[in-house]
Amino acid sequence: MPAGTVIVGTGQAGFQTAASLRAEGYLEPITLIGEEPHIPYQRPPLSKGFLMGKQDTESIELRPGAFYHDHQINLIAGRRIAAIECAERRVRLAAGGRLPYDALVLAVGARNRTLSIPGADLDGVLYLRSLEESIVIKERLAEAEEIVVIGGGFIGLELAAAARSLGKAVTVIEALPRLMPRVVAPVISDFFRELHTSRGVNVLCGCAVSEISGAHGRRKNLRHRRLCRSSQSICRRARPARIRSKCRRSGTMRRRGNRRPQRVLLRAAVVLDRPIRDQAADGGAFRRI
Ligand SMILES: Cc1cc2nc3c(=O)[nH]c(=O)nc-3n(C[C@H](O)[C@H](O)[C@H](O)COP(=O)(O)OP(=O)(O)OC[C@H]3O[C@@H](n4cnc5c(N)ncnc54)[C@H](O)[C@@H]3O)c2cc1C
Repeated sequence: MPAGTVIVGTGQAGFQTAASLRAEGYLEPITLIGEEPHIPYQRPPLSKGFLMGKQDTESIELRPGAFYHDHQINLIAGRRIAAIECAERRVRLAAGGRLPYDALVLAVGARNRTLSIPGADLDGVLYLRSLEESIVIKERLAEAEEIVVIGGGFIGLELAAAARSLGKAVTVIEALPRLMPRVVAPVISDFFRELHTSRGVNVLCGCAVSEISGAHGRRKNLRHRRLCRSSQSICRRARPARIRSKCRRSGTMRRRGNRRPQRVLLRAAVVLDRPIRDQAADGGAFRRI
């Protein structure tokens, strides 16, 4: 029996490869395998409708679960591929076991660039890329009063707009001199800066976050305990963090927030969605300043 095609990655690219192969008449086995424990879903709503509570998990699925059965696509969710054994034409699963292939498709997407500054591991410093991360941010948003978004790209601004529309005090910190500098012209950056500012978002460009300060608190606060349980490793109990940033123009150190510390649960949502090759090329926007 032929091994068929193994597709690694259950994001949009992996899903569409499997669907298109079937639509184009491919008859061999197809295995679609990914490390996320869900059937393939759309990421765009994670910073928009899903975050705002307008869409649920089911409505962001790329296709209902039955699609994979109906199209004879062997969907394996929650499994990470640890190695490709090219000579044997098979992949090795991190959890053990191997899958043979005739053709192998790598649709492994990108990962968030993580911050390597003091305090980046504090409670309330969250990342947005996956469904789980969006769920945690959504929970935190319900309780938070002030939000700091590090990264003034599309996703950061979408998150800022969503948080602002929920009545939160929002600051966006962008390391480069203008918003969305890699993808839009200066006139568009200016337009969006004015738009977000007019809606009450505090936009800081040319500022690099150098430190997030706070303590790993042990307060017996019901709200904290609940958040800890639901938000996994990056949401350890902690007192609210303060953001320390260095502004390119003034060269001064600024501290943001810390006005109502006991009420602020989400202090920084770190939103980065950049291809790996860009991360390597620019050496990291935060370090460049
Ligand atoms: C919050 C957010 C909002 C967005 N909004 C928009 C928008 O409005 N418009 C737009 O055009 N784009 C938007 N995007 C970008 C768009 O979602 C991405 O371009 C798209 O998800 C890329 O799909 P992909 O399949 O290439 O990669 P990914 O979605 O990254 O999927 C790759 C998958 O491979 C899995 N994987 C990686 N390594 C392994 C391994 N070794 N073993 C098993 N599995 C592995 C990953 O877990 C992941 O599930 C948004 C992205 C995010 C995060």
